Amino acid sequence: MIPLEVRANVRVSPSFNRLTLGGAALAGFTSPGRDHAVRLFFPRTGQARLWLPSLHNDAWMAETLLQPASRRPWVRNYTVRDHRPEKQELDIEFALHGDQGPASAWAARARPGDPAGIFEEGYSYLPPDGADRQLLVGDESALPAILSILSTAPAALTGNVFLEVPETADIRSRIESPVGVQVKWLPRDGAGTIPGALALETVRKTPDLGTPSYTWIAGEAKLVTGVRRHLVNERRIEKKDIAFIGYWRHGRSSPG
Ligand SMILES: Cc1cc2nc3c(=O)[nH]c(=O)nc-3n(C[C@H](O)[C@H](O)[C@H](O)COP(=O)(O)OP(=O)(O)OC[C@H]3O[C@@H](n4cnc5c(N)ncnc54)[C@H](O)[C@@H]3O)c2cc1C
Repeated sequence: MIPLEVRANVRVSPSFNRLTLGGAALAGFTSPGRDHAVRLFFPRTGQARLWLPSLHNDAWMAETLLQPASRRPWVRNYTVRDHRPEKQELDIEFALHGDQGPASAWAARARPGDPAGIFEEGYSYLPPDGADRQLLVGDESALPAILSILSTAPAALTGNVFLEVPETADIRSRIESPVGVQVKWLPRDGAGTIPGALALETVRKTPDLGTPSYTWIAGEAKLVTGVRRHLVNERRIEKKDIAFIGYWRHGRSSPG
């Protein structure tokens, strides 16, 4: 359990805020990049301080749930977008989706000095050696992970990325990525579809994906399961070559 505080909150584009969290407790923290994720703890509205669980193993969840509502923090999963060990700080990028989600609402308003905490989680992007052609698919919740994966990918990597975002203004004009990787940005621009539907449809309709040797899919549950099913059933890609992780479920709050 790493107690931190907000150091900065920057609006990156209409649908994304980047929060910098920092503190001396980050001294021993290392991040392998990729889709490295953490559990993020933050206070509920009206709580003057953050009560982090005291248990440092997986029992923290039970401890959190047993807290009275007045002390129980919110907890959600987020990706470490950047880590600057020399400054003892890290960045998290939040896809803002209004006030119905506590994390989205908190990220929209967090100010320097506000308390937060993290618990390290690990990562799922594990391409085998020699997986030099890859397919990455995600919605806006997976943008931080995909950009982080691309920025540390070997220069020789080739493949396709399908990245759905809420609107054209959310497209990042400059990203670090191997030249042989084609990044297709998919802005919904008010189409009214649920996040992920456009990316799923686009993958389905793309005639040639060039037989990726490794695929990583993350985002809304239907996107993730839909792309995996399509790749396995219609493109005959082996299940073992596809990593997939449902980041959130439309219409359902994350537990915690
Ligand atoms: C390993 C992992 C890493 C993740 N990394 C990131 C990250 O770096 N950045 C990021 O933004 N998200 C990330 N997510 C997704 C994030 O944890 C969820 O979106 C989470 O549900 C947000 O919490 P909330 O309190 O805002 O909304 P919740 O209380 O969980 O949900 C409230 C409502 O909002 C809807 N909702 C939830 N998320 C979204 C969304 N993204 N867009 C539209 N509606 C939504 C739900 O369906 C529900 O109806 C990650 C998830 C995992 C598992």
